[in-house]
Amino acid sequence: MLDSVRVRLTLWYTGLLALFLVLLSLITYFIFWRSTLQRTDSNLAELSEAFLSTVQAEMLDSHGPDAPRLAVQEAIVEHHYRDHVFAVFDPSGGMLASSQDLPNQESPPKLFSSGSFRELRERSGTPDQHFGNVKGGRSGYRGVARKFTLKGQLYTLVILQSLHPQNEMLEEVRVTFAWVIPIAIFLASLGGYFLARKSLAPVVAMSSQAGRISAKNLHERLPIQNAKDELGRLAASFNDLLERVDQSFERQRRFMSDASHELRTPAAILRGESEVALSRTERPAEEYRESLAVLHAEAQRLTQIVEDLFTLTRADAGQYPLSPHEFYLDELVADCTHAARSLASAKQISLTCEVPEELPIRADEALLRRMILNLLDNAIKYTPAGGRVTVSCGRSGAEYALSITDSGEGIPGDLQQRVFERFFRVDKARTRSEHDGGGAGLGLSIARWIAEAHHGRLILARSDSSGSTFSALLPAQVSVPSTAASLTR
Ligand code: ADP
Repeated sequence: MLDSVRVRLTLWYTGLLALFLVLLSLITYFIFWRSTLQRTDSNLAELSEAFLSTVQAEMLDSHGPDAPRLAVQEAIVEHHYRDHVFAVFDPSGGMLASSQDLPNQESPPKLFSSGSFRELRERSGTPDQHFGNVKGGRSGYRGVARKFTLKGQLYTLVILQSLHPQNEMLEEVRVTFAWVIPIAIFLASLGGYFLARKSLAPVVAMSSQAGRISAKNLHERLPIQNAKDELGRLAASFNDLLERVDQSFERQRRFMSDASHELRTPAAILRGESEVALSRTERPAEEYRESLAVLHAEAQRLTQIVEDLFTLTRADAGQYPLSPHEFYLDELVADCTHAARSLASAKQISLTCEVPEELPIRADEALLRRMILNLLDNAIKYTPAGGRVTVSCGRSGAEYALSITDSGEGIPGDLQQRVFERFFRVDKARTRSEHDGGGAGLGLSIARWIAEAHHGRLILARSDSSGSTFSALLPAQVSVPSTAASLTR
């Protein structure tokens, strides 16, 4: 049960509310109790003042040794109220007069001999008055004790007021708190549970909807009730995540299907060609050689595709190990041009290299070589016989701009950005029928990843009927990590 957020929220809420209510009640009760006590004390102070004034007035009319007692008795009769006890003690500590002497007195018999009464009496001073509690009766007494002089003699006045009415009132307050607080907590917990249930209902709906989403229905999205509140934003973030997962899933699916499609062709050719070669027992050696040449070319193509796929898979996972070191880019470019020269001359294509200056760089040389060869290979492949391919490389601000320009027929405008997509070929039928190493449409994806792994870019700078220019822009101060970041597509 405690695993439910609703229950935990309600418990927290109820617990905090209960604590708050109990604290509030305690503070209210304390303030109430203190003000009651202060009121009682000020009543007692006023009463003692009035009592002593009466005694002084009575003394004016009384004479003789008994005059103080008579005056005090008169004052007691005059000021005596229910719930009050008066007692006056003579200088020797003996009782001069008390309200106990009056008829129908209800005060307890041993009141004056109790320890708390004696303590109150002994603490009285002149003109200070001392307040204190005295035990006795149903609820005890609050008392005041003060000294006063009559005819040069020091007497002690003690007035007690029963605390019964105040205690009854405080008891009522306690009883009220005792049933109001539990009811308030109960109602608040019901309300809290209802609110928690209501506000978490969209989360519950989201979680059951999310539970239904699988690889088969990744396109489904969570409902968003209010896009501006927290839950709406959570659902929107979740939907964004689903969108990315969906896209990545779709890319992965397309990648797998394209990859198997690309592998199927060379595999089919290998099988067909070998079946033809084996179909007859006796064949001229020339025919066997031709079949083996086809098998060899297709096996090479198959190997190339598998290698490219492996490179892209590792690039996707950000796990392709880079081995950066310092070298001269101009030398690498010249080297690659030299390597492609035989390919170009086979098609009577003039291949020129223009690198006017030294271009030091720190990068993964093998990967940059692969990028340049991919671009050169494309330029030669898609340029008709007798055409021209130019490689140029130079510094442009903080970058090295490496451009490969051909005089081919170019790439149609609407397809120009798609050439960097995996398995994309402008003319699939033509490329495949040639069997000249026509790739699987992975070369430019890999070349672009290599440029990006070096914090650079690979762009199709120009392409029209007079030819195309691919440019790789690499930071002159390349410092690459030992593992390339994952491929961005
Ligand atoms: P492929 O291995 O098929 O060459 P790439 O990824 O290298 O794959 O290229 C993708 C497609 O872009 C090619 O199939 C081709 O249609 C087009 N392409 C690439 N380079 C050139 C170029 N220099 N001239 C014309 N088309 C090109």
